[in-house]
Amino acid sequence: MGAERGAGDRGGRPAAADFIRETVREDVRAGRNGGRVVTRFPPEPNGYLHIGHAKSICLNFGVAAEFGGRCHLRFDDTNPEKEEQAYIDSIIEDVRWLGFDWGEHLYYASDYFDRFYEYAVQLVGEGKAYVDSLRGDEIREYRGTLTAPGRESPYRDRPVAENLDLFRRMRAGEFADGAHVLRARIDMASPNLNMRDPVLYRIRHATHHRTGDRWCIYPMYDFAHCLSDAIEGITHSICTLEFEDHRPLYDWILDELRVGRHPRQIEFARLNLSRTVLSKRRLLALVDGGAVAGWDDPRMPTIAGLRRRGYTPEAIRDFCARIGVAKNDSVVDVALLEHCLREDLNRRAPRAMAVLRPLRLVIENYPEGRVEELEAANNPEDPSMGTRRVPFSRALLVERDDFREAPPKGYHRLAPGREVRLRYGYLVTCTGAARDPATGEPVELRCTYDPATRGGHAPDGRKVRGTIHWVSAAHALGAEARLYDHLFTGDDPAGGAPSLNPGSLERLAGCRVEPALGGAAPGALYQFERLGYFRADPDSAPGRPVFNRAVSLRDTWAKIERARAGGGAAPRGGNEP
Ligand code: ATP
Ligand code: MG
Repeated sequence: MGAERGAGDRGGRPAAADFIRETVREDVRAGRNGGRVVTRFPPEPNGYLHIGHAKSICLNFGVAAEFGGRCHLRFDDTNPEKEEQAYIDSIIEDVRWLGFDWGEHLYYASDYFDRFYEYAVQLVGEGKAYVDSLRGDEIREYRGTLTAPGRESPYRDRPVAENLDLFRRMRAGEFADGAHVLRARIDMASPNLNMRDPVLYRIRHATHHRTGDRWCIYPMYDFAHCLSDAIEGITHSICTLEFEDHRPLYDWILDELRVGRHPRQIEFARLNLSRTVLSKRRLLALVDGGAVAGWDDPRMPTIAGLRRRGYTPEAIRDFCARIGVAKNDSVVDVALLEHCLREDLNRRAPRAMAVLRPLRLVIENYPEGRVEELEAANNPEDPSMGTRRVPFSRALLVERDDFREAPPKGYHRLAPGREVRLRYGYLVTCTGAARDPATGEPVELRCTYDPATRGGHAPDGRKVRGTIHWVSAAHALGAEARLYDHLFTGDDPAGGAPSLNPGSLERLAGCRVEPALGGAAPGALYQFERLGYFRADPDSAPGRPVFNRAVSLRDTWAKIERARAGGGAAPRGGNEP
């Protein structure tokens, strides 16, 4: 991959026009920044990336690629107490996996700590910043509210020389955490709270994952971010809406310091997903509280979790292209994300047969000991993916759920006297079921087959409505399947206590899969016929695969779209059993 490569030349759906691309286009047309476009993705390494970050990544790398520019990956690592190298590593892995490349432009805000300090000294020297010795709670109280103006700190008019001396000694480690802060000297009566003498530096005697103990004062986000952008020659600093009120401060700092380069900050609405938490703080709480197995638990909306679940970079990029970019907050239906995955995997995932909850089926008129190798299409959507051979014999396993003693209306699977098609196999008619005398549960189905229907076609053209999947009992391999549901029972549980869905993980240890799946490499993706898309998990052991269900075949989003369009064709791959 070339250094300048991004979503713009990754194939897939082109990004729709949006107000950010319009702004950038206009800047390029007007020759601003010499016609250059430089963006950045600036994560704080205090957690794993999630699907909301993917929106920002696709936007920043996408815009850069579309305008022949570049996008930097910059770690906004100004908060040592919450940051770790492990998070840096995971972020690098995830952005790469999504298909983006920053080339040599990997940066850390901590690399600029010396320059930030010099800039701060410049502000102090010009009387535009001062050392405040109020306590944190006093600073908050003095700041006022949206309706009440702030009050000036009694330390606001310290002479420049005293400020310079105190700030130097703050850096030298002479004071305890919280003893002083450095504040910009702007306007305590500003209607914008961010402009009421915001804190620029605080004392933290903490070891930084990159700079060690070299610093005991750390810059605040608002001070570090605009300067990092300017230092790197960013032209368009794209961020989420909550920073809109910070833009005057962003501009104030760059203007007062006469940095020379002045990136343009543009805000867009962050991604909110139904039934999903997208906040690193709350995701961390799920990990720390043991509600999930880790950041890469397949139920997590993290990139690592989605990957382990079976999401592909293509599906995630397609989702980001579809949701587009807007200026007003909204909630996207998680069904759209699932729909994007189905569309991608429908094209790419080889088909296989697996039985999650096996029930034995014996074909009484099929010769004992005979084994046929039946031909099965690897992907009916794509004949170039070829075929494979699946063993068929007298004793098969089918899904428990594919048999009903008393079938309800519309049920076209096995029931006494009913004929169904065994996928790629024969037509069989159920003649009865042997039951567990204690529970009454069926333990074995009896069937007869029609030898003239090999491949599933009746020569007389008689109609058989149900098709079910199966595996040969003697040939199938044991496997575990993990089925997932949403982590939360309701929509984004913002504010109140999130209520966890107790059924978000179902582990089925007694699955049986066709023998070819014994060699499934971790990461391999399949469509298990009629069950959904599955991914071989790293927990797999030789001869004992573990599969995560990424998504079922039932496509609620396609249904929503069909209803909107007033009918239309059923989605491919969305075959209701
Ligand atoms: P969180 O709220 O999850 O803690 P954050 O914004 O604090 O996220 P950062 O590491 O600062 O996390 O985010 C890096 C970039 O990703 C920022 O530019 C931020 O605006 C963007 N981003 C974060 N969450 C979303 C989201 N839900 N949708 C779009 N962009 C997002
Ligand atoms: Mg942030």
